[in-house]
Amino acid sequence: MEDRFGRRINYMRVSITDRCNLRCRYCMPAAGVPLKSHDDILRLEEIVTLVEAAVQVGIRQVRLTGGEPLVRKNVVGLVGRLAALPGLEEVSLTTNGILLGPLARPLKEAGLGRVNISLDSLRPERYRYITRVGNLETVWRGIRAALTVGLTPVKLNVVVVRGFNDDEILDFARLARREPLHIRFIELMPIGTAAAGEAAYVPVAEIKRKVEEEFTLEPLEALRGCGPARSFRVEGGPGSIGFIGALSEHFCHRCNRLRLTADGKLRPCLYWEGEIDVKTPLRNGASQDELVELFRRAVALKPRQHHLEEGWEQPRVMSQLGG
Ligand code: SAM
Ligand code: SF4
Repeated sequence: MEDRFGRRINYMRVSITDRCNLRCRYCMPAAGVPLKSHDDILRLEEIVTLVEAAVQVGIRQVRLTGGEPLVRKNVVGLVGRLAALPGLEEVSLTTNGILLGPLARPLKEAGLGRVNISLDSLRPERYRYITRVGNLETVWRGIRAALTVGLTPVKLNVVVVRGFNDDEILDFARLARREPLHIRFIELMPIGTAAAGEAAYVPVAEIKRKVEEEFTLEPLEALRGCGPARSFRVEGGPGSIGFIGALSEHFCHRCNRLRLTADGKLRPCLYWEGEIDVKTPLRNGASQDELVELFRRAVALKPRQHHLEEGWEQPRVMSQLGG
């Protein structure tokens, strides 16, 4: 389905939990964020019903996220049920990778297409510092498992934060020369504890200049599921490098997505107040046609663009928005 601005909306990010097993400093406070009660969170069969309705308005790809999607019980079963839905072409997942090692194969067998893995440092002590509790070696086991079972292309999401990891930009870029890994440098957004602020923000133009000190970047159009990234081939290497500048490069004009939060709110835009409650109608016995109508309404509500750049003062929490 097209929205008011002629954008074809065919992709939905589905947050399946607001819980997380890490506490990344730019995302959450050390104590975590107030969690929704068990009853507020969509049950797995409710998620399947809502995705079925989404397919009716033209959603063709679904990405599971969170919180940390792999902490949700029976995520493998959910992937299996979604992957079997007629009309849905791809189910993918964004994860911090901590639980991916043992789950990669069952997820692949259930029908998962590919994974994005968030990794902000290649240095064990620093990784622990940024995530407060994470173990880098465990994430690497997850990355290796994803490559081995073919959850490809494997993308690594790297949020660049000044003073945290901006001195590792070239190390990440070199990884794409050695391994079939697709590095996506992401600008920090004024969401979560990132209120730490504007001083920590590194624009993608600066990240790209740093990469170009050592690499010749050749634009790449065809990488599956490129999304908002501008991607480049790495000379002589199996990987690629991409840049996602949510703030500095408005890509809203080619935004193709909706978001479904873990507590059943349909959000037409990550950073915009409007949302539609789909859980209450679902639990009150709405028909499939009525649910489809709510999805149509969400598409129709999509704003032309976000106003993220106004947000450093009042950040929201990414793990609740379904990042
Ligand atoms: N827990 C999973 C993970 O970390 O991959 C999925 C959810 S997480 C909210 C999704 C992505 O949002 C991660 O790549 C994370 O680094 C990113 N993220 C969180 N807070 C952010 C912020 N303030 N700015 C930019 N990206 C952010
Ligand atoms: Fe958890 Fe992902 Fe947020 Fe890190 S970025 S705290 S892994 S939800």
